[in-house]
Amino acid sequence: MSRKPLILQSLAVAALAVLGLTAHASGAGPHWGYHGSHGAPAQWAELDPEFETCAKGTRQSPIDIRSTVKSNLPDLYFQYTPVAPTIVNNGHTVQVNVPRGQSVSIGDKTYELLQFHFHTPSEETVNGKHAAMVGHFVHKNVAGQLGVVGVLMQPGPMPKNEAYAPIFDHLPRPGERITVDDLELNLAALLPTDRGYYTFEGSLTTPPCSESVNWIILKKPVALGTDQIKAFRRLFNANARPVQPTNGRVIKESM
Ligand SMILES: [Zn+2]
Repeated sequence: MSRKPLILQSLAVAALAVLGLTAHASGAGPHWGYHGSHGAPAQWAELDPEFETCAKGTRQSPIDIRSTVKSNLPDLYFQYTPVAPTIVNNGHTVQVNVPRGQSVSIGDKTYELLQFHFHTPSEETVNGKHAAMVGHFVHKNVAGQLGVVGVLMQPGPMPKNEAYAPIFDHLPRPGERITVDDLELNLAALLPTDRGYYTFEGSLTTPPCSESVNWIILKKPVALGTDQIKAFRRLFNANARPVQPTNGRVIKESM
């Protein structure tokens, strides 16, 4: 099977990159990022009135996961199948867009997978500790509510995680959009086999920091190859928002 990378470079995105601006899903907006004295997380709310929730919100993400309440939570049912993805570098992260039809069910709610993307180190911490990376699998249900499944990632003994290789072998540069002919990504293989999880209410971890996101963090990390983590860090040295106050939110943990 030939695995010929087909690189489609959007002219609009490339032009914005040249101007030093950023492009994200909702189009070009104010410059925000993770470093420096302007546009770093502490200033996000000042960049645009639409970002005020980043400072004023009371249920912001990420958070430090500790003092959990063990609960009888519904199992997670992932209806994930192999897909042909499109991999995009949007200037903030590498995002993998997937065709429709992939979903996760939690109790009586079903959320459809829109995309997943990565942060390093992990944004959420467990008892104060970051994982090397995290994958955020962003889903939406028919009511428009977001459900994000977090997959923590740690360096493992194998040189590479084969399930993630289609992505980490083709990491796009800023502004690039990559589709690979004949490439199948087995979505189910991206998840740990143990599906125990933490769950709590939170927000988007990037501007506009919108709240009412249902967060589900899988307890068991997946192992990545150290070279895979290095390859991502060559593009994004650090792209994690600091942890936010929990403000009394209950963190439930499956038994
Ligand atoms: Zn994220």
